[in-house]
Amino acid sequence: MHKLLLRQLRRHFGSADVPAELRGFVDAVNQAYEEAQGDRVLLERAMDLTSQEMLERYRDLQAQVGERERVEQALRHSEEYFRSLTENASDVVSVLEADGTVRYHSPAIERILGYSPDLLAGTRAFAGAHPDDRQAVEAAFGEVRRTPGAVRSVTYRNRHAREGWRVLESTATNLLHAPAVAGIVINSRDVTERSVAEVALRESEIRFRTVAESLGEGLLITDLDDVIQYANPRVEEIYGWRPEELVGRKGLEVLIPPDDIAPFRERMARRARGVAERYEMRALRKDGTTGWVEIHGTPFRNAAGDIVGTLGAITDITERKRVQEQLAHGALHDALTGLPNRALFLNRLEHALERIRRGRGIPFGVLFLDVDRFKLVNDSLGHGPGDELLRQIGARLVQALRPGDTVSRFGGDEFTVMLERVATAVDATHVAERLLAALAVPFSIGGREVYASASIGIALCDGGDAHPEELLRNADAALGRAKAHGRGRCEVFDRQMHAAAMRRLQMETDLRRAVANGELRLEYQPVVSLEGGGIVGFEALARWEHPRHGTIEPADFIPVAEETGLIEGIGRWVLDEACRVLASWQAAVPRDPPLTMAVNVSARQFVQPDLVQQVECSIRRHGVPAHSVRLEITESVLIDKPDAAAETLVALRGLGLKLHLDDFGTGYSSLAFLERFPIDAVKIDRSFVHGMESEPRRARFVAGIAAFARSLGVGVVAEGVDAPAQPALLRERGCQLAQGYLFSRPLPPEQAEALLLGEPAWTLD
Ligand code: C2E
Ligand code: MG
Ligand code: MG
Repeated sequence: MHKLLLRQLRRHFGSADVPAELRGFVDAVNQAYEEAQGDRVLLERAMDLTSQEMLERYRDLQAQVGERERVEQALRHSEEYFRSLTENASDVVSVLEADGTVRYHSPAIERILGYSPDLLAGTRAFAGAHPDDRQAVEAAFGEVRRTPGAVRSVTYRNRHAREGWRVLESTATNLLHAPAVAGIVINSRDVTERSVAEVALRESEIRFRTVAESLGEGLLITDLDDVIQYANPRVEEIYGWRPEELVGRKGLEVLIPPDDIAPFRERMARRARGVAERYEMRALRKDGTTGWVEIHGTPFRNAAGDIVGTLGAITDITERKRVQEQLAHGALHDALTGLPNRALFLNRLEHALERIRRGRGIPFGVLFLDVDRFKLVNDSLGHGPGDELLRQIGARLVQALRPGDTVSRFGGDEFTVMLERVATAVDATHVAERLLAALAVPFSIGGREVYASASIGIALCDGGDAHPEELLRNADAALGRAKAHGRGRCEVFDRQMHAAAMRRLQMETDLRRAVANGELRLEYQPVVSLEGGGIVGFEALARWEHPRHGTIEPADFIPVAEETGLIEGIGRWVLDEACRVLASWQAAVPRDPPLTMAVNVSARQFVQPDLVQQVECSIRRHGVPAHSVRLEITESVLIDKPDAAAETLVALRGLGLKLHLDDFGTGYSSLAFLERFPIDAVKIDRSFVHGMESEPRRARFVAGIAAFARSLGVGVVAEGVDAPAQPALLRERGCQLAQGYLFSRPLPPEQAEALLLGEPAWTLD
């Protein structure tokens, strides 16, 4: 019975162990069995009793077992549910003991870290964490462990079983006090991919910042409302605003001068339409000053490709602009006075004429002003004070005129003025006189009072068909007249001057042709010895046989030849022709010393670099002795470039030539020249010789020059001897040679030769 019961119970519970709840019952059965001691009735009664009780208990038990089975099944169910969840989850679920040993890892750990879960059970958690991250992980875990219910997340790198590192994001929950778990549960997720993307993003941002911050250009990112999103440090150097001050403000409100806002809005609109462009604009700085920037504006797009603002690369071009403006100013202005230069003046004239041509202009006048004897000021005071005088003159002219008038320094000591709204000669003359009055007040230069005066030529523009050059030429012609009439005054260009100017222009054209056509010829005037009256030589004098106007005097055409440069070719020809004729005469009349020939050399000829060569070439070609040739130069040659002149004179002298100073007494008449330069003789100008017999002043002048010249061993030649009394007077006063109508006018070569070969027509007493 006992065994049977046990068997029954076992079948019920499926185990060798009888549940504790039934143990009392089994004990009661065993006791009853023992008490009956084989007495069948007693046993049966006891059994009845117990079976009654057993039945009740059994029913009870059955109810209990059913309940328990249900619970157990539910439990099994839920356990399976959770197990399957954890075992199949992509995240790793781990359970750690309070001391940090691993109790359980879900299988996902194999997929993520390559370890089998069983292998890690019992090891220390986080043993595979990256050394750099371990401290943070342990700290987070420690914190969770100390605080029941605490939850903490931490991201760290963990070694993979085979290679490299995986980035895990783990969330630990303290469930030590939860009866079912009694551990720390950690949910770990593999975020390696995400973190690579994050790192890449971070790196790209660092790259952007590094580039943006080291850029030589300013960089501004604004949104579509022009609110600044980003500014790099260079922006501060350009605008004076720190980047953090700018972010959040509108560029329009702080960086752009108010006048430029409207055009800037248009640019913003273009940017919003996707147009990129490069442009220059003014920049408003924090301190209120303005500069210039060049901006390369590009539409700024988000990841989806929509335009969300503007990226502006900004270069500070303030300095470049300043230099440009200076250059532009420099090209059109005179460096010394700061006034418009010739180019700008002509340009303004042209514009004014153009306006008149289009019927919208107003008549105007042109003044040509030349400082009287500026050269003298320059030479006596020095170039620095000379420059200062020009500067002050320029300033006075500007002051004396109206704002609309243009004053320019035309070159050297010449100024030009364009007078707005001046229609009549009377008006223009008033202005010119006002200018002359302004210049009459002494200037203070280097603490010294300096007086200056000027001459002014006036030309009026009546119609638009005039050319700027023509107007200036007219004003210049009037200036010439003003100077000829005694300087310090003004003259208005008129018809007569116009005619003269036209004649001059015509002469220029004709002279060019004359040289080519051989219209030039030479006449020869004898030079006579005041001792015996014999001819010692000749002076060659140029003549122009004009096909229509007949013979033209050198006084009329030599200045034109000088101005146009034609003198160079003419001079070459004169020199050569004179040497040719001299050679033939020397052959016809051999003498010792040989017959001489004087040739005039003008200032422009004298500065030719090959002058010495020319002379040498001509004397060699015709075989005349160098010492029989005289070159006549004037003092102006020596004044302009004294050092270069001295060099040339020495070189000419080196050839053996004689040098004569012509027209002595009419120019600077500096006796110092005779000491300073290697001069062989002076030719006293005919204005001192003419009438000397009745004018004691002239005679004294001639005597003075001759005495001084003699003391320096310099010879004296008298020009323009035209009265019978003069040769004796000149001889007494120390002149050796003479030239003049008294002896002979300049003659064509055949007549001169005849004179040379025949008996002289004159006698000296
Ligand atoms: P100059 O060299 O002083 O020449 C002397 C001038 O005085 C000549 O005038 C001559 O005809 C003139 N003359 C001579 N004796 C008398 C006189 O008794 N009374 C008056 N009233 N005049 C007299 P011309 O030939 O008209 O030459 C004028 C100037 O032209 C020359 O002055 C010279 O400076 C220049 N010239 C002439 N030929 C040449 C030349 O071939 N080359 C250069 N560069 N200049 C020349
Ligand atoms: Mg002469
Ligand atoms: Mg002369």
